[in-house]
Amino acid sequence: MLEIKNLEFGYKKGQPVLKDINLSLEDGEIGVLLGKNGAGKSTLFKCLLGLLKPTGEILHDGKDLTKISRIDRAKLIAYVPQEISFGDLTVFDSVLTGRLSRFGMIAGAKDREVVNNVLEELDLSNIANKNVNQLSGGERQKVAIARALAQEPHMLVFDEPTGNLDIQNEKLIFDIAKRIAKEKNMTIIIAIHNLNFAFAFGDKFFLMKDGIIKYVGGAEILNEETIDDAFGVGVKIIEVDGNKGIIFGG
Ligand code: ADP
Repeated sequence: MLEIKNLEFGYKKGQPVLKDINLSLEDGEIGVLLGKNGAGKSTLFKCLLGLLKPTGEILHDGKDLTKISRIDRAKLIAYVPQEISFGDLTVFDSVLTGRLSRFGMIAGAKDREVVNNVLEELDLSNIANKNVNQLSGGERQKVAIARALAQEPHMLVFDEPTGNLDIQNEKLIFDIAKRIAKEKNMTIIIAIHNLNFAFAFGDKFFLMKDGIIKYVGGAEILNEETIDDAFGVGVKIIEVDGNKGIIFGG
């Protein structure tokens, strides 16, 4: 279980960017972070990943992540960015860097086994020897997920992972994320811009505005009022066969 308690962070003294952030997610739950540009999503992710030092607590099964080393934290949380710039490597070696860059060791048989398993899981084995820079955007993003999974983390953080993908690949990446959460009972926290995808893939929603989590809960917290408040956009929520979506105007 992930629990964030009373987290605060500012880049400059006396100017908090994140204010009294409280958040909890069970194992296997997908938490969706929403909010307009500048709301504080990336800053919160950087705090989670240990790249920034906030005050407050970030607890994983009761253990405070702000008090453990970067290497120990990498064993718990892995990160999938919007787009990775890979080196001139094969798919296999790119995924292997998920183990080496975080754990700083020489690859052994166990590392190769983990990588092979992850490639198999994400249906990438057939392109394991291909240069990663020759792949499509969707394939590269799958490699980015594979690299994160090669860390064998307990939680995954996705920062708008589908920003540059077409909707077929966007859906593919979210489908993979959902499968990972359910099959591995892994907590996933994900920033999604597209509210229709958010409805389809989230279990719990955190709607941020000006550095606070202003609304939290199930899909019901995403309604005409809260979306207008957070994004300044008039929308209507529609429901078809139990699935919610948004249309503009309202
Ligand atoms: P989001 O990811 O929701 O777009 P960010 O976390 O990037 O929001 O930004 C939150 C606020 O922090 C914004 O006001 C932004 O200008 C500010 N900010 C982000 N990064 C820095 C930085 N490195 N130094 C100073 N201010 C920053």
